Amino acid sequence: MKKTILEIDLNALEHNFNVISSKLKPTTKFMAVVKAKGYGSDSLEIAKKLESLNIDYLAVAFASEGVELRKSGIKTPILILLPQVESIKNIINFNLEPSLYSFYFLENFVKYINDQKIEEWPCHLKINTGLNRVGFSKGEIQNAIEKIKNCKPIKLVGIYSHLAATDDLNETEFTNSQIDLFKKISSEIKSQISYKSILHMSNTSGIFNYPECEFDMVRAGIGLYGYNNFLNNELLPVLSLKSVISQIILCNKGSSVGYNRSFNCKEDTRIGVIPIGHADGISRSFSKNMFVIVNGKKAKVVGNICMDVLMVNLNGINSNEGDEVIVFDSKNNAEDFAKSVETISYEVLTNLSNRIERKIIS
Ligand SMILES: *Cc1c(COP(=O)(O)O)cnc(C)c1O
Repeated sequence: MKKTILEIDLNALEHNFNVISSKLKPTTKFMAVVKAKGYGSDSLEIAKKLESLNIDYLAVAFASEGVELRKSGIKTPILILLPQVESIKNIINFNLEPSLYSFYFLENFVKYINDQKIEEWPCHLKINTGLNRVGFSKGEIQNAIEKIKNCKPIKLVGIYSHLAATDDLNETEFTNSQIDLFKKISSEIKSQISYKSILHMSNTSGIFNYPECEFDMVRAGIGLYGYNNFLNNELLPVLSLKSVISQIILCNKGSSVGYNRSFNCKEDTRIGVIPIGHADGISRSFSKNMFVIVNGKKAKVVGNICMDVLMVNLNGINSNEGDEVIVFDSKNNAEDFAKSVETISYEVLTNLSNRIERKIIS
C-alpha cells in the first residue's frame, strides 16, 4: 500500500561521498554537514553511514543537533557552526567542538571553561572573509586571538571561513579575494600559535569549482545529498519524495476546486487528491507552478495547496486511485523541482516535515 514517504538512499550517499572524495588530495580531510536533519533526511542515519565510511568530521548548525547525534552513539568529532551562548554547557557535556565567531560567544565560552576548570577544549575559529554572516572580521581577528591566547584551555584545532558565491562563475574575482584574505589571515594566526590547526573553507560548490581552495579539509553538505547548484551528473540524488492518489473526483466544467474556489474547471476535470500539504513542507506558495509525476506524466497542481492535501489535474493521464505519485526522485530531481517552484533544493529538502515517514534504502 502506498502512502507519502521520503526514501533515503544510503547507496547514493556512499556514491556521492566517493565522488567528492575522488576530487580531493588523499590527505585532505572530509567534513560532512548534516545540519537540519541531514538536509531534511535523517541526520542519524546519514551520520551512521558516513561514520562507517570513516568520515573525519561532522558539522551541524546548533548544539542541540550535535547532542542528538551523541545521544545516539555517534563518536566522530562534531563541529557546531553557530553555537549559542545558552548551549555552552551542552557543548562541553556532549563533547562538541564550537565555532568561536563573535566576542559575545567567545567571552561567555572563556568564562565557562575557566569556571569549570576545563583543561583543554577543541574549537574552530571562524573568520568572516566577505559573506558577512558569521565570524570575526579582519579588524577584529587580533583582539580575538589575544583573548584566545589568554585562555590556555582553548585549542584552535580548526581555522575556517565560508565562501559567498562559489556557485556563481560571475563572481570568481570576489571568491578569489575571499580565498586570498583567508590565506593571509590564517597564516598570520598560525604564526602566533605553536601547534597546527586544520584550515577549511570550501562547501560543495567550492569543492567542484575552486579546487585550489581545498586547504586541509572541506565541508560538504548538499553534494552528499546529490546536488551541486551546478548541473552535475556525477552525483546521485539521495532523497525521493513519493505519495499516492488517495481519491479521484470528477468535476464538471464550471465547478471549482479548493478553498476560496481557487481553481475553476474550464472543462470536465479529473481531480487527483494527493495526501501531502503545506504541513509536510510543500509550501502553499508552490500552488501556482507545481506539478507531480503520475505514471510518467506531469500532473499540475490546481487550487491552493492545503495543510494535508493538494489536488492535481489528471486529465489526459491514465491513472487510478492508489497509483504512485512522484514529487521528486532520482530522475525528476529536487533541484529541478525547486526551480519550477522558484526556490532552491536546500529549502525544499529542509522543509520536509517530521510527519513524512522516512524509509531507508541500503
Ligand atoms: C551549510 C554549510 C556548509 C555546507 O554547504 P553546502 O553548500 O551544502 O555544501 C558548509 N559550511 C558552512 C559554514 C555551512 O553553514
